[in-house]
Amino acid sequence: MQELLEKKSRLTTKEAIYLLENASLTELGMAADLKRQTRHDRVTFVVDRNINYSNVCSTRCDFCAFYTDYGKEDGYVLDTEEVLTKVAELVAIGGTQVLMQGGNHPKLPFEYYLNLLRAIKKEFPEVDIHSFSPPEIIYFSKLYRLPVEEILKELMAAGLASLPGGGAEILVDRVRQKISPYKATTAEWLEVMRIAGKMEMKASATMMFGHVETLEERVLHLERLRELQDEVPVFTAFIAWSFQPANTALAHLQPATAYDYLRVIALARLYLDNIPNIQTSWVTQGPKVGQIALAFGCNDMGGTMMEENVVRKAGTSFSMTQEEIIRAIKVAGFRPAQRRTNYQIIKEF
Ligand code: SF4
Repeated sequence: MQELLEKKSRLTTKEAIYLLENASLTELGMAADLKRQTRHDRVTFVVDRNINYSNVCSTRCDFCAFYTDYGKEDGYVLDTEEVLTKVAELVAIGGTQVLMQGGNHPKLPFEYYLNLLRAIKKEFPEVDIHSFSPPEIIYFSKLYRLPVEEILKELMAAGLASLPGGGAEILVDRVRQKISPYKATTAEWLEVMRIAGKMEMKASATMMFGHVETLEERVLHLERLRELQDEVPVFTAFIAWSFQPANTALAHLQPATAYDYLRVIALARLYLDNIPNIQTSWVTQGPKVGQIALAFGCNDMGGTMMEENVVRKAGTSFSMTQEEIIRAIKVAGFRPAQRRTNYQIIKEF
């Protein structure tokens, strides 16, 4: 065991499965922290806002408490003015990143998205637009009958800078079939990221665990990310969060614990040797676990999340101001720094 935890060369997938199944929490944490120390000496965060442009979605994932069906009364679509007002509020507090994600709306024209991007870039050229996860790109590609490459080209020309890695859940089709059978497949999710990488776009990689997957499938998910990153270095960061069951069709499942979460991120730091940044997910785990995660391999607190709608609908509502994030990082013994989406440092505290 100790030999594996201190291994200098790359962990194999088999070794990673062994560690996840057998190493103690403290063993994983200490090894991950040592690894993190070789790469990062400060903890970063980005001032951002999530904007969910629509909750109308025809993909109907079992784990989602956010969506509504097309034609239902509670459905909404934000217009350009509403989105610009939200971005203006973000810019007013020194924010630099907008993360737009929707449901997969079956009737909006492609121009709706292009106009949103163009309008944001025109009014706020300094803002990084980090938006549309791979399943949305696949959905656009099918709905508008355009190849993924063409979709990305048009979105980039309109102002899109990078892709959030949402919708990855667990990149194993057995799992996807059970929890989100109508969503992009493993191969489709990876293909969007492959194409984006070849077009020199950057993206984050995510993982939502703690539902119907096995421990082995958690590691297989990481294996797929690591293999793609070897092929095309598209990912700047990895973010894991645990499934929040309240108000979903899977509400009967027991949620993962902080113990499970810390094991997953520590293993990710050890196994994903080609992805530089590991983010905490304090929005789902709470600020305290987010802070502890900094001793388990994480080097980034993610976004300040001026607005968060999706996790809140699943009954989880944590918030932190920028000052609270800075304080949490300092108290944990690290030097805080505000960054842009591409990890360029803007300000140290
Ligand atoms: S997770 Fe996304 S794709 Fe799935 S139902 Fe919710 S909004 Fe739609």
